[in-house]
Amino acid sequence: MTGTQFTDHLLCAQLKISKLIVFQFKLLHRRLATNSFLTKINLKDNEQCTFCQNDTETLIHLFWTCSVFTPFWQDFKQWAVNRGELSNTINLTAYLVLRLNLNKNKRLDFYFLIARLFLWVCKTRNTFPKIENFSLFLSHYDTPRTNT
Ligand SMILES: [Zn+2]
Repeated sequence: MTGTQFTDHLLCAQLKISKLIVFQFKLLHRRLATNSFLTKINLKDNEQCTFCQNDTETLIHLFWTCSVFTPFWQDFKQWAVNRGELSNTINLTAYLVLRLNLNKNKRLDFYFLIARLFLWVCKTRNTFPKIENFSLFLSHYDTPRTNT
C-alpha cells in the first residue's frame, strides 16, 4: 500500500466512523426525520409508516414495532447467534435492539449500531430490509476479528 493509498484508506475509515457517530447522535436525540416529524413541519402530507402503512412512523415504530422490520430483527438475531455474539435464549426487546444500555460485548453493540443504520438507510431508500443485504452493508464497516 502506497502512502497515498494509506491516506485514502484512513480518510475513508474516518468518514465511515463520522457517519456512524452522527447517525447515533441523531437517533439518541430524536433528530432523524420520520414521517411523523416531517408531517408536523409540513414537509409531508402523510405520517404513515413508509413500509407497512399501518401506523404512524415514529422512531420506535421504525426500529422496533413495524411489522416489516420485525422479520429483519429475527434474522439479525439468528445471524448474531450463528456468529457466537448472542445467546439463542435471549429475547430481543426494544431496549436491547436500541442498545440504550451498553454492555461488555462492544462488537455486539457495534453490530446493533450498524443494523440500526442499515434500517435507516433502507427507510431513506425505500428498500426492503433483508439480512443478506445487511451482511454486505456491514462489510463496509466491519474489521477482521483479532484473537487478543
Ligand atoms: Zn411500519
